Amino acid sequence: MNDMSTDGAARPDPDSREQGDESRASRPQTDDDLQYLFKTTALPILLIDPELDGAIVDANPRAQTFYGYSRDRFQRLFCADINVLGADVLPVMQEIASWEGGHAPRSFCHLMSDGSVRDVQVYAGPVYRAGRRLMLCVIHDVTAEVDTAQFNRLLLDSIHTAVCGIDAEGDFTSINPYAVSMLGFRHESELIRRNIREFVAQEHDDEWSIPATGAILQVARDGQPLLGSECMLLREGRDPFPAKIYATPVLRHGEVVGAVLNFFDLTGKREHEALVTDLANSIPGGVFQGIVRTGREFTLSYVSAGATRLLGLAAAPEAVSLATLFHAVHPDDLEPLSLSLDQAVGRCSEWQHEFRVLTGDGERWLLGRAQLRRRSDGGVLLNSVLLDITEKKQLEAELAHAAHHDALTGILNRRFFEQNLQQAHAKAMRYGRVYSVLLADVDNFKQVNDCFGHDVGDEVLRGVTFALSQRLRSSDCLARWGGEEFIILLPELNVAAAARVADLLRQTVSRLSVPPLEQVTISVGVAEVRLDETAQQLVKRADEALYCAKRNGRDRIECAD
Ligand code: GH3
Ligand code: MG
Ligand code: MG
Repeated sequence: MNDMSTDGAARPDPDSREQGDESRASRPQTDDDLQYLFKTTALPILLIDPELDGAIVDANPRAQTFYGYSRDRFQRLFCADINVLGADVLPVMQEIASWEGGHAPRSFCHLMSDGSVRDVQVYAGPVYRAGRRLMLCVIHDVTAEVDTAQFNRLLLDSIHTAVCGIDAEGDFTSINPYAVSMLGFRHESELIRRNIREFVAQEHDDEWSIPATGAILQVARDGQPLLGSECMLLREGRDPFPAKIYATPVLRHGEVVGAVLNFFDLTGKREHEALVTDLANSIPGGVFQGIVRTGREFTLSYVSAGATRLLGLAAAPEAVSLATLFHAVHPDDLEPLSLSLDQAVGRCSEWQHEFRVLTGDGERWLLGRAQLRRRSDGGVLLNSVLLDITEKKQLEAELAHAAHHDALTGILNRRFFEQNLQQAHAKAMRYGRVYSVLLADVDNFKQVNDCFGHDVGDEVLRGVTFALSQRLRSSDCLARWGGEEFIILLPELNVAAAARVADLLRQTVSRLSVPPLEQVTISVGVAEVRLDETAQQLVKRADEALYCAKRNGRDRIECAD
């Protein structure tokens, strides 16, 4: 035992301290016990004399390896030499030494012989040696635990995610700074021990509402995890904001003792969604976004109210086939629409297509436009705009009709007839087919205008048009040639057959009654196409035949030579 106290002579004589024999007699340890403890304990142990300014009386082999000092060296050191507090550790040491029994572990930072620092927990208790009250300090190296705890703390402090712990009653047990500020507070101490119930809205008319508190507490009691539940949280316990909550149960010895909550403020997301919706609703028509995958499966990620209405969908579905998405498309337009989309998806380029839909509003014309982008998972993202172009289509149709038809009578105009005639002529020439042309002119029409006025004249022209069109085949082509002249193309008819038609037309018109006129008559020139002439030459011969009919007394037909 003497070998443990090389410095003993310089230190106060334990016997001179106010410790009665009674106390010494009852001390439980013996020097041999201590020696045994020193050798066998796997933890570093230091024996310190508080009375001698914390002189290190002895250190066990494990302490020598841990600190890197030899036993001799240790016995020349003081506890201030191995503590980063230096001399400041002495009052702490004195306080600990003044306690009767041992004390709860105290955390210190100890210096090693190589200058490095380790986090330790020191368990100190009194031992008596040769009548002196020394302190037996068991050193527990907790550097790794402290590092982990510090890292975890740093992680929780620095992540931009709200994290908190609650116990089974819903009381906050810990809360990270991000969660503190999200709930409208400055410091975690303001929230610790307050209850999650105070910060969850129980009743509101938000569509995402769920009986949130119950669900959260169930995690902390029953251990059923909550995966991304949306609810309204209350900032400072008052102002609601939308949030998404994840809750994981905390288990201790298999028992659920609480939960870790992870929540996200959805305000920005909701505002962004509202912005997108407002934007989408402010444009005419609608927009939709989706991903086309193989097999034509179409996953809609966004569909505006306008697009839902235009496509005749009851509500925005999650995953639909293209056939479902376009179920209201006009049957005649479905095939070309699918084809154009397939091609665009194949090329992954722009898509543009016009098609009709049959909805409650009747038939509407839509223009679909999309930007397509290939995604890393092989799907193709489609950002599409649907525009209602019904009025434009109607206008186009009216313009096209006006360009080809005569405004007064509604039949083809001269320009469009000439195009038809050229086509019929080219076809007849190529296949050696016959056709004839009739030129009909209202007799003495100038007198009608002069006697009854222009309006009656117009009425006569409409009446003659009606009478002529009634008598023609659908393959025949009737047009207004100009003024009170009409021209008729009769495919497949030679001059004899055409003359019969011409006379039938003449008779029909002569029976026409346009009050106050008693009778309207026409004269008709008939000409059959010749293989060696142009369409213009044919019309000219019909015109000559008409002139002939006029000269021969009107209300008659004449055939060209
Ligand atoms: P003919 O029997 O020799 O054909 O005598 P006509 O009086 O019918 O022939 P003319 O060429 O002398 O007169 C044709 C008239 O048709 C002249 C013109 O004012 C009139 N006219 C031309 N286009 C229109 C129209 O759109 N409406 C009306 N009301 N009259 C028209
Ligand atoms: Mg005329
Ligand atoms: Mg005339």
